[in-house]
Amino acid sequence: MHSPISTSYLTGPGRAAFTVGLWIRLARRLVRGAGAGPATVRLWRYWLRESRLSASMPGRLVRHRGHVWAVPDLPPLDTVAFLECMEREVASATGHGTPAPVTAIVSITGRCPHHCPYCYVDATRRQATEPSVDLLEATIAGLATAGVFTFHFSGGEPALRADDLVALLGRCVRPERHFWMLTTGTGLEAGHLARLAGAGLSGVMVSMDSHDLAHVNRVKGGDTAWDTAACTMRQAREAGLLVAVNAVIGRPLLEEAAFYGFIETVGGLGASFVNCYAPRVQDQSLPPELAPFSIAEHRTLDRLCHRCNASSVPGPLAYTPDLWEAVRGCQGGRSFLYVDPAGDVRRCPFLQRAYGNIRDGNIANIIDKMQQDPDAEVCAGHRMLTEALGTGRRR
Ligand code: SF4
Repeated sequence: MHSPISTSYLTGPGRAAFTVGLWIRLARRLVRGAGAGPATVRLWRYWLRESRLSASMPGRLVRHRGHVWAVPDLPPLDTVAFLECMEREVASATGHGTPAPVTAIVSITGRCPHHCPYCYVDATRRQATEPSVDLLEATIAGLATAGVFTFHFSGGEPALRADDLVALLGRCVRPERHFWMLTTGTGLEAGHLARLAGAGLSGVMVSMDSHDLAHVNRVKGGDTAWDTAACTMRQAREAGLLVAVNAVIGRPLLEEAAFYGFIETVGGLGASFVNCYAPRVQDQSLPPELAPFSIAEHRTLDRLCHRCNASSVPGPLAYTPDLWEAVRGCQGGRSFLYVDPAGDVRRCPFLQRAYGNIRDGNIANIIDKMQQDPDAEVCAGHRMLTEALGTGRRR
């Protein structure tokens, strides 16, 4: 077994210098595109917005294999791809462009051995015909042409098609594209992670909802779900992959000591990021600890994540999207889109309207239809938060 590729944190003056350099590079890029005067006005107007992306810049950044990351949903901050995302973000926030997805969640199978009650894949789509590697390659090419830089391979359990993923990465990897696999770890055989890393996967997002083994095993339905997830995280680090955790946060983790205990546990297993999702009812009923959050509970989770990220002490960065989206607007179809296991292209896994199917072949048309929808759906949680906060739907 070879030694793990080290991941470190950029903090203090190093982080400050990096951030200043980033703004200078962005400003230069905007000046080249729009001229000095308009670029200055746009940047200033952007800076004044409460909902600007850079307002959530954490107190430490993740360094991995020569790149600097703030969040797994965007390209590394040191890349031209990130500057392009920011240029588009500034343009759309200041009325000089239309928001377009930079991230795509692409389902490659509906199959999964687990039975999580909050799963966003319904019974019909679990049986859907899987897209071939050729179709996935064409889909990724179409999405990349439309401006997507980051791809999350999802399911079902994508590890059940690990060999296909290695082949797909071999055809799709480009310097400006970044690929992640969402997994519980089930179905990954020895050597898969090393082969995926060798083929160009950036990282894995491992589903682990708690440091409470019994809770994870109960929710996933099995005796070994927690151990499998923990083992996958360790092996992924040894293979040189970045590790993020995707956690559907149950009520017990809203208690401060429990939340930070969880963050510490997954940090010890190799995670650099923790994506914290509030529970959402799908087509199964949820146990009481996973019933949808109240506004106060959303606020608590948001506060816990903010406090975690404000610190410069090394450890995973934690994010939760709901309050942020209540201020900034639902991001489904704006900064990301979802391709479900049947190939239907939707704004978000929690929204049902499809704008086309990847088998129709024209991704640009599908995204165009999505952007032109005058009456886009939003989820119940978002509606509740925007009504309570008086922020309204921003599209
Ligand atoms: S539909 Fe809800 S979960 Fe999906 S992006 Fe919009 S606010 Fe977020």
